[in-house]
This record gives sequence, structure tokens and C-alpha cells, in this order.
Amino acid sequence: MPTLAEALARETREGELYGVLPDGRLECYACGHRCPLPEGAIGVCKVRFNEGGRLRVPWGYVGGVQCDPIEKKPFFHVHPGALAYSVGMLGCDLHCSYCQNWVTSQALRDPAASAPLMLTTPADLVCDALRQHARVMVSTYNEPLITSEWAVAIFKEAKAAGLITGYVSNGNGTPEVLEYIRPWVDLYKVDLKSFDDRHYRELGGRLAPILDTIRRLHAMGFWVEIVTLLIPGFNDSRDEITRLTSFIAGVSPDIPWHVTAFHGDYKMTAPEATTTDMLLDAADLGRASGLRYVYAGNLPGQVGDLEDTRCAACGDLLVARTGYHIREYRLTADGRCPSCAAAVPGRWGAAFERQIASRPFIPLRRRLEF
Ligand code: SF4
Repeated sequence: MPTLAEALARETREGELYGVLPDGRLECYACGHRCPLPEGAIGVCKVRFNEGGRLRVPWGYVGGVQCDPIEKKPFFHVHPGALAYSVGMLGCDLHCSYCQNWVTSQALRDPAASAPLMLTTPADLVCDALRQHARVMVSTYNEPLITSEWAVAIFKEAKAAGLITGYVSNGNGTPEVLEYIRPWVDLYKVDLKSFDDRHYRELGGRLAPILDTIRRLHAMGFWVEIVTLLIPGFNDSRDEITRLTSFIAGVSPDIPWHVTAFHGDYKMTAPEATTTDMLLDAADLGRASGLRYVYAGNLPGQVGDLEDTRCAACGDLLVARTGYHIREYRLTADGRCPSCAAAVPGRWGAAFERQIASRPFIPLRRRLEF
């Protein structure tokens, strides 16, 4: 019986996101680590490696599939109520001690984590997504940047079938990987975990590549939404939240910012859970920084109107939500406020399409297959 690492090493092909350094090592540029890899070496992500002077990258499998309301990703300014067919791989370039997806993201780093390998094809995934009436296909649950060649193969099929595509990512990108995915990825959610480089180093990364990625994503025309999990004692000081939200507003005040509640997970169980008041205070700071669309997440029904979308010009209600459930949808067919006609940034449909599900589910066929 092969180990998970041996099985994953087998399910690979030569990648495209790398170059050769003057000393003969390979430089992978799928993520901001830019690992220099001598012959036989494996990257920080544990899924890309140098074999015989060629970079081998994951191909032909998924670590999990789930149908999620798009509000769970979260994207609040993209076809509210749509179903997002969510595909996860294995491995990550960071090692956050509070990761909620650690079973897949840390599968090769932590012996306590393991996930099944499900061999599949882009056509099979797209066919299943359409069968579930998904509007969107998302690479999520682990870090999608590190499997970008495979994601692009899937998304080419998805876009040909009329699906919208997206990444749910930590944002530790490079200019090269963003250029590579740009034709095939429409939506990009960045998890901006902190505004302190020391904190990022605790998680295995650096702040600078993430801020650079956010600037580039916006300039390149991806639809960007940003999430910050508010962790008491880690990233919740007024100064840090003010600097973080001021940065986002400086890129564009129209970028939606979701501040979400923490609860103990994986190896980080000591901090208290985020309270409603903490979320509301952080949201106030975000608005004071100039952000026009601020949302509070993970405490459905407890955060006033901070789950709703309101017109930034006149304040009228545009989309009412409780958790992932859409209670009301009032945008015009061309994505404007019905009261004042102000354009609302996002990717909207001509009308509200029915909500397929307001909670996640695993497609029946996948349950039986794997
Ligand atoms: S994806 Fe990132 S962590 Fe993995 S090999 Fe490439 S540069 Fe290194």
C-alpha cells in the first residue's frame, strides 16, 4: 500500500510555472515562496518537486468535492444564491495553526491529517457541477495557487461550459502565476490574515507578497473580495485592523471586506471565540477606513445588517441575508440600486436565480464513488 506522499508523487505531470536558475536548480513560481529546488527536492507545499530537472506538479485528482452556497466562500457580490461547485486538492504553502481545512491543507505535513485521493478529469468535474446546477466552479479547501496548472485545466472546461470560476486563496502569489491564471479565473478571494509581517512568518509566509498580490489582482480585473478571520489577541488590535482596512481601501474602497468570527480549531484552541461586539467594532473601523462594503461573518443573525448588502450611495437595501440564505434581492437587471440607480460593483445576474441550497452538501454521485 503506497503512502499518501507516494501516491501523490505518482499523480503528477510536468508543470509550467517554473524556470531554471543559473546554477541549475529549478525555481517554482506558483506561489510567493519561489522555492529554489535542486534535483530531488520538494517544495514547501510538499506537492511540487524537482525530478530529473523538471518540475512535477499535481494532476488528475481532487482531495474533496462539495457544493457550497457562494456566500460560504464568501463572495457576496457575485450572483447571490448561486451554487459554487467547490473542488479541493491537498497541501498548502502555509501552516496556519488555526486552519479550518487542515485535514486537506496539512495532509502531507501532519501525520494526523489525511484525505482520500479521488482520481478524476476536468470533464467529469464539470459534468457533475452542471448536474448540480452550479453557476460557479471554485478551487478551495487547500491553497489553489500551488495546483494552478491543474486548476487551469479544469477551468478551461468549466468556462467552455459557461461556468464562472474562482480561487479561494491565501493570496501568496507571484506576478507569473497571476498572469498564468488570469484568462481562466474570474473571481479571487484573498484571506488577509494579518497586517503584521511577524504574524505572517508564524504562519509560514510573509506579508509583502500577499499585499502585492492584492494590488495586482485588482489592477488585472479579477473580482476580488477579502476576508479577515478576527482572532482575539492575534490580529484584532485597533491599530492593526485600521492599517489593514486602510490598505484595502487604498487599493479600492469597492472591494468587499468580510470580517469573520474565530472559534478554536486545529492547534489554536486557546484564544476565546470572537464575540459579536468584537466583529461590530472591527466593521466600524473598516468603514471608518473608507471601505464601502463591510460584512460580518460566522455569527448568522447576530450582527444586525452586516450580512446584508446596502447601496453605498443611498443606503437602500439591495440583498438581505441570514447566513447563506438570501432573504431578499433587489438589484436591477444591470446591477444597480433600484432607488438611486447607483452602479453596485460585482458580478451580478440579470435577475435573482433561485437559490439551489442555503447549506453545503456533497454531491450524491461523489459520495457513492469515493
Ligand atoms: S508552490 Fe510555492 S511552496 Fe510549492 S514548490 Fe512552488 S514556490 Fe514552493
